[in-house]
Amino acid sequence: MKKTAIINSQKVTLNKYGHVDFTPEMKKTHTILIPNMATIHFRLLRNVFISYGYKMELLTNSSRSVVDEGLKYVHNDTCYPALLVIGQMIDALNSGKYDPTRTALMITQTGGGCRASNYIHLLRKALVKAGYGYVPVISLNLSGLESCSGFRLTLPMIRKLVAGVVYGDMMMLLRNQVIPYEINRGETDALVERLTEELSQQLAQNRGYRLSEFAPNLENIVREFAKIPVQYRDITRVGIVGEIYVKYSSLGNNNLEDFLREQDCEVMVPGIMGFLLFKVDNRLEDIKLYGGSRLKYMVVDALFRYLTKMERVMLDTLAPYPQFKAPATYEHLKSLVDGVIGHGSKMGEGWLLTAEMLELVESGYPNIVCTQPFGCLPNHIVGKGMVRKVRQIDPRANIVPIDYDPGSTIVNQENRIKLMLAVAREQQQLFAKEPSHMPADDTTEAAAMPQKEREPSFAKPAV
Ligand code: SF4
Repeated sequence: MKKTAIINSQKVTLNKYGHVDFTPEMKKTHTILIPNMATIHFRLLRNVFISYGYKMELLTNSSRSVVDEGLKYVHNDTCYPALLVIGQMIDALNSGKYDPTRTALMITQTGGGCRASNYIHLLRKALVKAGYGYVPVISLNLSGLESCSGFRLTLPMIRKLVAGVVYGDMMMLLRNQVIPYEINRGETDALVERLTEELSQQLAQNRGYRLSEFAPNLENIVREFAKIPVQYRDITRVGIVGEIYVKYSSLGNNNLEDFLREQDCEVMVPGIMGFLLFKVDNRLEDIKLYGGSRLKYMVVDALFRYLTKMERVMLDTLAPYPQFKAPATYEHLKSLVDGVIGHGSKMGEGWLLTAEMLELVESGYPNIVCTQPFGCLPNHIVGKGMVRKVRQIDPRANIVPIDYDPGSTIVNQENRIKLMLAVAREQQQLFAKEPSHMPADDTTEAAAMPQKEREPSFAKPAV
């Protein structure tokens, strides 16, 4: 017999943990709201859930009331992403757009030692205070942390979600490398829109996630991007690293990518797949460092190998297109921090954040914005705290750590980034071997411009 309770005047069913349950019946009656961290990826992921019969919506509300609701219901010592995500959910429930008695919320639980595993508890507490304690909260996790009777992650669903992440990474990577140079404005975004629709339909029809379909789909994505007519110019290349939410979410980073493009920059944002591999690999590192079950190691290792295989397919697909800069392998990323920071450093983005900075510099994106949320100790250590070390290793690194919090002004953040860009442009001139190898009238299709000709116009100075 299921336990029930009255919360904020509504009768609810409780799950085995004593929390409001998302029951199987709710699949038909409730709309699940999820934060929109990375637009391309999350649209694909949402469509996977929809194909399993869930009604799901990505949250796009981004007005000041999001921050205000967060400040009202979350302790102001809590890290900024938690404040924003919770504020956005309560703001949506307040908006009148949804019937709160027919709405559920979904939030990720990473299972690591950081606060991201505990956002769910902060959210439930905030919901009770805001009068929505009866709204069920679904935990999206792969660590067996929490479950509810009406939502279950199955193996085919996980495989589709992983495929969605890789498709998202590929489109984000190529969009960023094509959009600053496109001749016909809007063409790149129109392509992303069309491909997202096509891939979503495939995933909804139980296709597009097996290796036999996955590789041709990736090949098709690259081919389509390579057809977009572009005119390459020698512009400043900037990488974005940082805590995962503020790195990807335009709500979290005040539209950082758009701002950088307005400043005539090409942006590189490392993909989500690296983070997934890092999270899985951490479990293996834990067992290596502290011991643990051999069976668990074998299971996690199988998942790690599966993800590595997907990464390999993506990189192999990019190989024949030298005009596109492919990301480094996870293995290479990990090797970059040997002797720099321990592989056991895994809170927040852990050593991965440091590795991503080193990799960006190595691959021609020496100018970096390191996004740091307020209240995030781990990423201040592995991000801001490692800037000096990264510069010692590679003096080309031109990194600006930017803090994001409810009180910081956008003007202040943008001025600091502009300062970094001024240094970047100075360095570009200082280290230029020759003026520019890209003639102003070089109108061509992306395929016609080999990567080597797009290398940054500076040489590594002698250390
Ligand atoms: S990594 Fe930082 S922002 Fe993310 S949960 Fe931990 S403290 Fe919060």
